[in-house]
Amino acid sequence: AQHFLARAQARPELGAYLAFNEAATLAQAQAADARIAAGQALPLDGLPIAHKDIFVTRDFPTTAASKMLAGYQSPFDATVVTRLAEAGAVTLGKLNCDEFAMGSGNENSAYAPVHNPWDASRVPGGSSGGSAAAVAAGLALGVTGTDTGGSIRQPAAFCGITGIKPTYGRASRYGMIAFASSLDQAGPMAHSAEDCALLLSHMTGPDLDRDSTSLDVPAEDFSARLNERLDGLRIGLPKEFFGDGLAADVRAAIDAALKQYEQLGAQLVEISLPRTELSIPVYYIIAPAEASSNLSRYDGVKFGHRAAQYDDLIDMYKKSRAQGFGDEVKRRIMIGTYVLSHGYYDAYYLQAQKIRRLIADDFQAAFTQCDVIAGPVAPTVAWQAGAKADPLAAYLADIYTLPASLAGLPGMSLPVGFGDGGMPVGLQLIGNHLQEAKLLNVAHQYQ
Ligand code: GLN
Repeated sequence: AQHFLARAQARPELGAYLAFNEAATLAQAQAADARIAAGQALPLDGLPIAHKDIFVTRDFPTTAASKMLAGYQSPFDATVVTRLAEAGAVTLGKLNCDEFAMGSGNENSAYAPVHNPWDASRVPGGSSGGSAAAVAAGLALGVTGTDTGGSIRQPAAFCGITGIKPTYGRASRYGMIAFASSLDQAGPMAHSAEDCALLLSHMTGPDLDRDSTSLDVPAEDFSARLNERLDGLRIGLPKEFFGDGLAADVRAAIDAALKQYEQLGAQLVEISLPRTELSIPVYYIIAPAEASSNLSRYDGVKFGHRAAQYDDLIDMYKKSRAQGFGDEVKRRIMIGTYVLSHGYYDAYYLQAQKIRRLIADDFQAAFTQCDVIAGPVAPTVAWQAGAKADPLAAYLADIYTLPASLAGLPGMSLPVGFGDGGMPVGLQLIGNHLQEAKLLNVAHQYQ
């Protein structure tokens, strides 16, 4: 823990960490030492990890990378934080991210942008950019992230590490600051599928009293099936994931990885996810709609920032929110409020919900032809900081991660080589509901 704390604190320019509490970290580490010395080691004893600043923590401040929550101290730990601590993991600190997890480049943090450890002029991806950068730079062995529309998979791909978003409902959302509740899922990010399997086993499981969407499915040992052979495995390649928008350098790395899977005994089959393109407008209606509702709690009364001066109650709400939220968060609140408003609900929100169902049905049809789905995580490698100042350009780059999110399916990214500028490329694997062990097995076989 001391080694990783020193490493993490020596790299402030990376922007990966937002908070430390050395005393709390060392107390956890000493408790782990004592258990190990007594021959009573827990499965993750002493493992130095860190949490995305979307998870509330008793021992560290929690901000969601927003000014709105500057100085906020939670009286309780998120379930994911509790479970990892109960397995013996030691928390090094809190990790930077896009404000309220809204973004794809970690340039929306109210505190500092995160830089990509492979090339500091590029973004690390988002919104779990601090999480991915911390693992890639060796500032933690494993971390937590959250994925609403790709925020674990895409930063993992951009930083050359591994990350998995489990099936919606596998990991408790209790204590995870809400962005879009029907999409938000927690997951681990680490160097390898093996490490992710270990962490995922201690992050998931029912939490029925505290999260009404928690799945009543027993916790699983996700490490148990890592070494199964892939003979006969049918890997579905959605033709819509390999179209015009995919950069040639990314395509070459993905093709090489798929060739290796063929050599490992897998069979590649072309499939179709015909509504892939629609996943962008559908997601960017549903996610802001839910966000506009979730973020109404930040009113200057109950949590976080309150304007210093105001005339009356309404003015206090207005000024607190105007000062506390950043531009992207305000944009989402406005879009969300609009699509939920009386005159437009049927035209936008209801339509989006219907298409969401069809997107989920498309996956079920695809899974009659294949066991897992593979493709790129993002159309390009990590872009230059500032290159996607136009929010629409950033939204479009989410095209390959949004479909699995809308369908609630598990998805992961594993590093499979390098593209332009020597930047890492990630291969995305998508499984049917509750098929995380299969995905981790397939990822683990890659060499
Ligand atoms: N890039 C997407 C967005 O901005 C996904 C974010 C996420 O998964 N948290 O909404």
